[in-house]
Amino acid sequence: ASLRRSLENDEIVVYYQPILEIAGERIVGFEALVRWARQDGTVVRPDEFIPLAEEIGLINDIGKFVLNTSAAQTADWVDRFGLSFTAVNFSSRQFRNNNIAGEIFDALKNAHLQPCNFEMEITESVLMDNSIDSMNLLELLIKQGMGIAIDDFGTGYSSLSYITSFPISKIKIDKSFVAKIPDDKNALAVVNAIIGLAKSLNFKVVAEGIETTEQLECLLKLGCQYGQGFLFSEPVLAIEATRLLESRTTRSATSDTSRQQGVE
Ligand code: C2E
Ligand code: MG
Ligand code: MG
Repeated sequence: ASLRRSLENDEIVVYYQPILEIAGERIVGFEALVRWARQDGTVVRPDEFIPLAEEIGLINDIGKFVLNTSAAQTADWVDRFGLSFTAVNFSSRQFRNNNIAGEIFDALKNAHLQPCNFEMEITESVLMDNSIDSMNLLELLIKQGMGIAIDDFGTGYSSLSYITSFPISKIKIDKSFVAKIPDDKNALAVVNAIIGLAKSLNFKVVAEGIETTEQLECLLKLGCQYGQGFLFSEPVLAIEATRLLESRTTRSATSDTSRQQGVE
């Protein structure tokens, strides 16, 4: 079936990838990543259908679906596991929708989710494209306690003036740099500089695309606080993400018990 009918056919699915505190490997949040699960069994990645969705005017409906689905799911995880947040990606095109703030607040209200348990991921291009309007929108969202993350940091225009003038709370180091550490000295220098920049500007910092323990140890040494990547988990369905949260909770509950038994 076509992309146009994918929503009504329940073929649009939200996957979740855990974001961890690197020291301690505790899940703090998830990133919502959309997939088109076609009826023939193939799963299409967003890079392959988001541009088409934008072209045929379906992106706002898909975005709204991701927003509502992930907000409801996150409210459950916050209640049951004390999860901090889920982050949702927004493209430049979605940002130009005048009612985007209304849609976000409606989704949170319907899900009984606090703004502080929700994060928006945008790329540097969103800030370049939209200026005054986006500045006002981001200010409104961040005032409500929502997180704003700059995605794929270092690959866009990398203008240092906007990251000091736009209200943001987090920087995500692009996975192309992470893939090259620790061996590539230039990539290492860039990652180190981004972490330092984030710290001095009081932003949180997340490394994307961590695939090896060498990368993980390197990031830990550089003082990067958060990370996500295949080393921990691929993006998974909500039911699997819930299992990840359960197993973490069970594991710590078990070690508490054994500690108590050890004392007795
Ligand atoms: P992104 O926001 O930078 O998301 C990270 C991408 O890296 C995801 O690809 C994720 O599956 C992948 N990834 C995670 N860990 C690793 C790793 O260890 N190694 C490697 N090589 N890759 C890793 P995905 O899911 O295909 O998404 C691609 C892009 O599509 C996203 O990049 C985001 O910009 C966009 N996207 C995803 N979901 C949505 C959505 O709901 N709305 C919009 N507008 N864009 C979305
Ligand atoms: Mg993202
Ligand atoms: Mg990214």
